[in-house]
Amino acid sequence: MITVGVLAIQGAVAEHVAALNKIENVKGIEVKTLEEIEQIDGLILPGGESTAMGKILNYFQMLEPLAEKIKQGLPVWGTCAGMILLAKEIVGQDTTYFKAMDMIVKRNAYGSQLDSFQTTIELPEIAATPIPLIFIRAPYVESVTGDVTILAKVADKIVAAVQDNMLVTAFHPELTDDLSFHKYFCKKVSASKQVS
Ligand code: GLN
Repeated sequence: MITVGVLAIQGAVAEHVAALNKIENVKGIEVKTLEEIEQIDGLILPGGESTAMGKILNYFQMLEPLAEKIKQGLPVWGTCAGMILLAKEIVGQDTTYFKAMDMIVKRNAYGSQLDSFQTTIELPEIAATPIPLIFIRAPYVESVTGDVTILAKVADKIVAAVQDNMLVTAFHPELTDDLSFHKYFCKKVSASKQVS
């Protein structure tokens, strides 16, 4: 059994928790404090508004301790705004957050809220059937350095990637019925729990 927390300060929290709790041997819970984060095996940073989440994390002095936990290997998955929080660089913006993953992220990269869209993708290493992807005022990864592995591209733009204990997706698997990405992340969390 693994416990996966969803950072519950803003954004699409309940949907992630519900998806996690559909997976065997996984307990999904909301987490709000560093004490709660101490109890989990993996963490999801949900979609929402990265600026708002960053400000709240800063106000509650959680940015640095959480960045340290990620650096020490806590498995973490950033969806959409969560991906922005993990980036080492954000295009056109001096403020960065966890500065964890070797990538440059472009916010609102597809335009305004009206430019939100859905598509599907085949990713045999993640699922045997095509995966539905929902993009909501989404970022994409403009470029990566270091040992980042690109998992998915849509129209030539990087929309999913992994580096060590970190997974990022520009889209929102928690808003679909497809559990492939949640299962993929939970496998990563289980593997990391077994070695630690
Ligand atoms: N546009 C948001 C941001 O920049 C991200 C949108 C989302 O998480 N769906 O933080």
